[in-house]
Amino acid sequence: MAKEAGRGRAQLFEPIYAEAVDQKLDLGRRLRRAVESGDLTTHYQPQIDLKTGRVIGFEALLRWSHPERGPIPPSEFIPIAESTGLIVDLGHWVLRDACRQMRAWMDAGLPARTISVNVSPAQIWNGDFEKVVSTVLAETGLPPELLCLELTESLFVDHTKQKVSHTLAALSKLGIQLALDDFGSGYSSLGYLTRLPFNCLKIDRTFVDGIATVPEKRKLLGGIIALSHGLGMSVVAEGAELAEEVDLLTEFDCDFVQGYVFSKPVAADEAPGVAAGIEPKRDPRSRPIRAAR
Ligand code: C2E
Ligand code: MG
Ligand code: MG
Ligand code: MG
Repeated sequence: MAKEAGRGRAQLFEPIYAEAVDQKLDLGRRLRRAVESGDLTTHYQPQIDLKTGRVIGFEALLRWSHPERGPIPPSEFIPIAESTGLIVDLGHWVLRDACRQMRAWMDAGLPARTISVNVSPAQIWNGDFEKVVSTVLAETGLPPELLCLELTESLFVDHTKQKVSHTLAALSKLGIQLALDDFGSGYSSLGYLTRLPFNCLKIDRTFVDGIATVPEKRKLLGGIIALSHGLGMSVVAEGAELAEEVDLLTEFDCDFVQGYVFSKPVAADEAPGVAAGIEPKRDPRSRPIRAAR
């Protein structure tokens, strides 16, 4: 087969490449079965309101435990799911699982909190995504205002602009929230921020990392926060790892923060306890927010 394909392509079939391709195909097949086998789970990372210290929501993050290889990070399996098209089913599954989970927490008497779910571009580009979302909301009984969909700048790379803006408008009409994820890590054309119905901007971890020591990074971060507020969006800072970073974010009037300084993503059965441990015990107005040092 390699011979027939001609000389120019021979390198594709060298053993090392073939092995990598095999591995990818195998991972793709395994991933497809992982949902049914329970090897795929949703973890939850708390999002903290910097004004009150309360946990206002959780971001749902997929976790895959491979039967032989152990945990495989999303940075490895999400691209495979995207290149095989599996992300559409996977995305649907995690959306449903997260909405169902928040509804179950509320039914158990736990506080109503926002659930943020990551959405890949293919989910928006293909098919009736607003129908998928409204069906999931109806089936799980989650109030729309408690769902936030996180979209990335990669949504805007190609020529499907019309489709994208239509779908975002339809989603917004459902009463859910839309967040622009990983802001600053990608294409960063500011134009779409004014044209599309985003409620929230999530500042990428790379902009938060180093603010405690690098004055230029502080200025940039302060500017992004002011810009977002000026456009009527709230701001979530991702990846705060130090108490000093939390102090600076508070000083810059950032609304919400998510990071290891408060908690890593945890399994569903741990999440309510972790949230309770983060929240201030007394009247939140009586003391400033401080992360553990
Ligand atoms: P993301 O949506 O930007 O999610 C935030 C990532 O930052 C998560 O990584 C989280 O664990 C990590 N993080 C949060 N706080 C800190 C911190 O203080 N320090 C450090 N070093 N990292 C922190 P994770 O769970 O590995 O996910 C990586 C990416 O994979 C996500 O980035 C998202 O783009 C994608 N992903 C995860 N779950 C899904 C999913 O259900 N659907 C889609 N489409 N993508 C997903
Ligand atoms: Mg996200
Ligand atoms: Mg992000
Ligand atoms: Mg990301």
